[in-house]
This record gives sequence, structure tokens and C-alpha cells, in this order.
Amino acid sequence: MHILVTNDDGIESPGLLALAQSLRALGPVTVIAPDRERSAIGHAITLHKPLRAREVDAGVSGVRAYVTNGTPSDCVVLGALDLMDPRPTLVASGINGGPNLGDDVTYSGTVAAAMEGAIIGVPAFAISLARVGATDFTHAAAFACRLATQLLAEGVPEGVFLNVNVPDVPPETIRGVQITRLGRRRWDERLVKREDPRGRAYYWLVGDPLHDGSLAGTDIAAVMDDHISITPAQLDLTSHEGIEQLAGLADALSRGSAD
Ligand code: MN
Repeated sequence: MHILVTNDDGIESPGLLALAQSLRALGPVTVIAPDRERSAIGHAITLHKPLRAREVDAGVSGVRAYVTNGTPSDCVVLGALDLMDPRPTLVASGINGGPNLGDDVTYSGTVAAAMEGAIIGVPAFAISLARVGATDFTHAAAFACRLATQLLAEGVPEGVFLNVNVPDVPPETIRGVQITRLGRRRWDERLVKREDPRGRAYYWLVGDPLHDGSLAGTDIAAVMDDHISITPAQLDLTSHEGIEQLAGLADALSRGSAD
């Protein structure tokens, strides 16, 4: 076995270090992480410039570490295709400093690295501490170790990866673990428009999350209720309801193309 630890907050993130330290107890760990913050990079991979990886001191005894100029998904590809021997048998991504809940998971580099783990065919999870600016990753790291132990023993269904959010509350007040679905996480978005010193407009997207914890069974409700949320996610973005509902659309368009 060989655990790949990556993240989207960059090689110097304390959450990455805490995750590597914790999983080291289970067996060999290799860290491959971006050289800078890549939050909100999504599932991007590097195709149009050289991808570099350089071995660095992980700061964790017995853990090999590489820093790359690539994205979180690049880190998983690098581990699977070159840097790790034996190949990774588990991908752990995080611990992100801030939540990855609801609709936001589609932007997340942390979650995308776990998705890439599913693509290379190994159990994978993304783990986030659900408060921006949180500094104590101890409890989330301990939970990651327990989860990894289970995943290494039991595996996951093919194509499935896990998105984990740990509430940032004292460990004794965490009420349990829930398997959840993704909620809806809207933002009170504002586009701030300013003028640069050369007179040209620039934009900065800002906003506050509008939590909707009212939907029972969602990741957002679970975290707001002081539960650790585990959402099983999958690569297949197909709307299976949509296939049924749009059957008439194909008929209508087929008729049109035959005219
Ligand atoms: Mn991040």
C-alpha cells in the first residue's frame, strides 16, 4: 500500500502537513502538492506547458514529498504515472482550510484531486475543515486516519469518491457522522469593479455564502448540525432523470433534421 496526499492550498498548508502526519501511521505516504494555492482550480490539468516536480523536505519523518507547478489533479496523475512506486492505493486530498459543501464542490481543487483518484481506480477522499481560517486540524486529521483505515480495508464502489467536511467545533461536541447528499450553497455574489492605475477596469468577485441548512440529509445541514458529513460522489455527471424527461426533445430534433 502507498498513500498519496495532496491538496489545493499548496505545499506549505498546515492542513496538508496534518493529513500526511496522521496517515503516516497507516503505512508509506507520499505528498505531492502544488507550489502555491490552487483553491477553486476545479479539475484542471496541465497540458500546454511543462509540468515540473521537485523533491522537498516534507517536514514529516519518513514521508517523501514533491512540490509541483501543477494543479491538484496533476499531482494525482504525477503520483500514479511516475513519482510513486508502488502506485498509490489511496488518494487523500486536504485538509482544506474551509468548507467544500453543496454546489461549491464543482469549483474545488481539493475535491477534484479525489475525483482524479477515482479515475485512476483507487479509493479516494477529499477532506475539509468547514471554517475559513481554521488553524487546528488535529481532530480532522485523526478522523481522516480512521476513514482511510476503513477505505483501505473495504474499498469504495467503482467510480465513487468521498467528499468529507468536518465541522470546526471542539471534538467533544461533534455529534456523529452522516452520509449525505450535496446541498445547495448559494452565494451573495458581488462583482466589485474598479479601475487600475492605467485607467482600465478590473473585477474582483466577492461574496458571502448563503447557508441553506433546511434541507435534511444534505452535507450543509449535517455540518451546521455539528456532524461530520461524508458525501459519496461520482464521475458520471449524467442526469438520469433528464434522459427520460428529454426523450421528446430528441424526437422533435430528429424530425427537424430529416426535413
Ligand atoms: Mn483550498
